[in-house]
Amino acid sequence: MGRFSFIVCHSALSEESHCYFHRHNIVMQKEYIKVIVGSGKDQSLRRFHPWVFSGAIKKIKNADGKGEVVPEEGDIVEVYDNKDEYLGTGHYQIGSIAIRIFSFAENLPAGRQVNPDKNFWQQKIKLAYDYRKQLGLIDNANTNVYRLIFAEGDGLPGLVIDWYNGTAVIQTHSIGMHLIKNEITEALKEIYGDKLKAVYDKSEETLPKMSKVKAINGYLFGKAETNEVIENNCKFHIDWEGGQKTGFFIDQRENRKLLAEYSKDKAVLNTFCYTGGFSVYAAKAGAKLVHSVDSSKKAIELTDKNITLNNISNHQSFAEDTFDYLDKNKNAYDVIILDPPAFAKHRDAKHHAVMGYKRLNSEAMKQIKPGGILFTFSCSQVVDKKMFESTIMASAIIAKRNVRVLHHLSQPPDHAANIFHPEGEYLKGLVVHVE
Ligand code: SAH
Repeated sequence: MGRFSFIVCHSALSEESHCYFHRHNIVMQKEYIKVIVGSGKDQSLRRFHPWVFSGAIKKIKNADGKGEVVPEEGDIVEVYDNKDEYLGTGHYQIGSIAIRIFSFAENLPAGRQVNPDKNFWQQKIKLAYDYRKQLGLIDNANTNVYRLIFAEGDGLPGLVIDWYNGTAVIQTHSIGMHLIKNEITEALKEIYGDKLKAVYDKSEETLPKMSKVKAINGYLFGKAETNEVIENNCKFHIDWEGGQKTGFFIDQRENRKLLAEYSKDKAVLNTFCYTGGFSVYAAKAGAKLVHSVDSSKKAIELTDKNITLNNISNHQSFAEDTFDYLDKNKNAYDVIILDPPAFAKHRDAKHHAVMGYKRLNSEAMKQIKPGGILFTFSCSQVVDKKMFESTIMASAIIAKRNVRVLHHLSQPPDHAANIFHPEGEYLKGLVVHVE
């Protein structure tokens, strides 16, 4: 198959051939490494699921289709079925998920060629930008923080970009995406123009630990003018350099907004508060008092800073374990928020995680005032919506309280999952009334 490309993977042409092409003014031509999947292993790719597991690979052939090769991590590869039919183009990596597909375009009716060059990445990022624009998140006077790229959700597996009022914070989870961070930065400059003040790469913790390729956190472009953002008119300081993830849990934006509707004149407890997102919304919505709890002193400092930034006076914070805190404070709150870290990051830890959620929720249900409202969440991807909801039911049985479900919550549209990749649905929550 004669497919050509201008930008090639990093294990590309030799210096010599480079010079030859330059001297003769010929555009470099190279086919990509071909990965052939075993019989039946093409099915998920035909359903546009973007992952190829290492066990699905039958053979990896050189670009000329002759000898077999071992690709470098981050190489761009083309995936074929065992009848030589093209399936998709993606990044190769050592690990259980061996290839993350970023383009099925040649397989779509329009049948475009896939040339993952600078323009290709720019177009993909522009599509994601236009979608956020459609959502009303771009140039919004009340909110200048949102997720611009949500990995598979935006057809860019391995890439997350969060926008913080002029600073784009990039987190790459795959080597392939990490190797093109400069192209990504250039694309952001083109798309945002003067509005882009800085690009910060925070991939040190997210790249696979075993890889030869290492990331160092730092600025790829410019310098941030401010680290203050607004979200639905609430102000926050964002510490993308020192904070968890990219610095803020943007995914709770819509849920924080809903909490505001339940907070007026109420005594509100925000556990696992981190930057105090829920606390600020509750206080600004007229809560009688707001208490925030987090076991990390640093999180409490961040919360206090955000409380001050919003001129809130009826707030107190506690650097304590949530379980201990709930145990000591019975019948004290009308509204409780439980937004713990992922209790299970892997499938093996699922049972343990479910036990953790059950214990936490039953404690909160026992302690909340009669008629109280509980906002409860799980961001463990391995605990699905059904399992989470049955865990909350089990908690109500243990607490012996009558509980009704007011709202089923999930992640906001700037974190929308791709329908072909249900694994992208990770955040689930319930708002329940505890009689
Ligand atoms: N609700 C937050 C995000 C929570 S992140 C938001 O909307 O931004 C999880 C937080 O839980 C972290 O800040 C971590 O320090 C805290 N944490 C973890 N275990 C804890 C425990 N046992 N008790 C209290 N806080 C805990």
